[in-house]
Amino acid sequence: MAVETVPHTEQPDVLEQTQQLIKKALEHMGCAESFYELLKRPLRLMTVRIPIRMDDGSIRVFTGYRAQHNDAVGPTKGGIRFHLAVTPEEVTALSMRMSIQCGLTDLPYGGGMGGIECDLRTMSAAELERLSREYVRAISRIVGPTKDILAPDMYTNAQMMAWIMDEYSRLREFDSPGFITSKPLVLGGSAGRESSTVKGVTIVLREAAKAAGVQIGGAKVIVQGFGHAGGYLAKFLHDAGAKIVGISDASGALYHPDGLDVDYLLEKRDAYGAVTHLFASAISNRELLAQACDILIPAAIENQITEENAANIKANIVVEAANGPTTAKATEIFASRGVLLVPDVLASAGGVVASYFERVQNNQGCYWSEAEVYRKLDHVLVKAFREVHQIALESKVDMRLAAYMAGLRKMAEAMRWRGWV
Ligand code: GLU
Repeated sequence: MAVETVPHTEQPDVLEQTQQLIKKALEHMGCAESFYELLKRPLRLMTVRIPIRMDDGSIRVFTGYRAQHNDAVGPTKGGIRFHLAVTPEEVTALSMRMSIQCGLTDLPYGGGMGGIECDLRTMSAAELERLSREYVRAISRIVGPTKDILAPDMYTNAQMMAWIMDEYSRLREFDSPGFITSKPLVLGGSAGRESSTVKGVTIVLREAAKAAGVQIGGAKVIVQGFGHAGGYLAKFLHDAGAKIVGISDASGALYHPDGLDVDYLLEKRDAYGAVTHLFASAISNRELLAQACDILIPAAIENQITEENAANIKANIVVEAANGPTTAKATEIFASRGVLLVPDVLASAGGVVASYFERVQNNQGCYWSEAEVYRKLDHVLVKAFREVHQIALESKVDMRLAAYMAGLRKMAEAMRWRGWV
């Protein structure tokens, strides 16, 4: 099935875009050029070549990476993705964004990120297990519970985290649950970790609505994307009394000004989140984005809101549940029109915050209830939202730049104390 997107007038390079944001944020913070000189690249970027015996007896060589952006505040932290399109530039950019997420939520971590170029669909479970184990062996010199803590990301899950934790523990000859997060519960995973990212989106959305004076009960909401995140958010908001007027999947969208039957759509949705093909009234994703609503939640793919369509968007609040759905130019247009944008680094920070809670529990050997995890998550994200919003108002910058400024504050101070800048 083809993925429908609006035409791209801007094709932003994710690394360049992240570097530009860091540069601009540091300038607004009055930091000397030397800060950017260090922060424009990761402190370490390891490339590994991993030979794996495949099930048919042949050997295949995979390429993997681990980037550690900055460890002035504490060990680096971030996920690993298994995907054919993984590149050193992407891993580098994502490690920088992890630094921002950890910084704006005030975690004692810097950002890290890793990945392996591979196509999961063509590999057996046994091949994946060998690849996961060999990957951690290959990067073992630079990672560890006090150096760099791994987690899942796109196309990686709790099973892979368990294999990686097991292999690392064997290698180091001690049980090391705090080395990796999002583990299965029985291996030291945390209650609430699995839903923590989407839960986090609902928390910052609630705060954004308060800040913009919008009541969630009765608000008209469009959710672009009806997969795990989009479906959960539509259901959550529907149950909270909002009117879900629009949803979409990869092939089209549905819109009704009086609200859609979310429970029915969720029931009809297939395993890939597709549902709109069942309705003759379906419109395009592009048309959906221009419909009337109070809150828009892009929860699908990147570059959906560009300088071409940003002015047509009717929402007062846009919450980026997807990665990079709004381009830099579109972000500026929103800021000039007074649209409150909750940037992806803030909206999706719940995952790494819950990962931090998991590691704290591992270190203490004492485990919290799901309610306790969510209570603490709420506290951290409310504080993060308010700080970012405050910076945006005081420094008269857009919310994305404000999030980068909040994310870099502690790191810049730690670098100064350490004498790195
Ligand atoms: N990629 C992860 C997520 O948002 C966060 C990384 C981490 O937990 O270290 O789910």
